[in-house]
Order: sequence, then structure tokens, then C-alpha cells
Amino acid sequence: MSPTRNPNPRCAICGGELRDTTITHQVTEGTQVYLFEHVPAQVCQACGEIWIEEAVLQRIDRLAAAPADVQCLRCASS
Ligand SMILES: [Zn+2]
Repeated sequence: MSPTRNPNPRCAICGGELRDTTITHQVTEGTQVYLFEHVPAQVCQACGEIWIEEAVLQRIDRLAAAPADVQCLRCASS
């Protein structure tokens, strides 16, 4: 079997089809609330669940922990 990434991933909850989209993702760090716009994500066409890639989530966590380094997530995540 090939270890390459499945180009058509399925929803881990219902098995529905996922479609690429961008979302606004909110992160709360203590008393601070950060809004990340244009976050690349996938939405399930069946149940509406939103999935964000692990690498993107890690990047968001880092940005929220170091607000001085906040940059354009869309530009940095290609
Ligand atoms: Zn689903």
C-alpha cells in the first residue's frame, strides 16, 4: 500500500465527503481571544463537521502563544 496522502479524505465521524474551505478559527489564550481568518480547513458535506490539518493547528497554537509573531496564516500555510 502506498503511504501517500489520500487526495479525497473522508469525514472521520460519518464518512461523508470533505470539501476544502477556509474558516475563521477562534483561539482563547487566558484572557486573550485571537481570531484567525482564512484558515485552511475541510468541511464535511454530510454532517458539517470542520476538520483542520494538524500542521495548521500547530501553527495556530504557536501564533497564539507568541502574538508578536502573528502573520498572514494564509500566506504562510501554502
Ligand atoms: Zn461528517
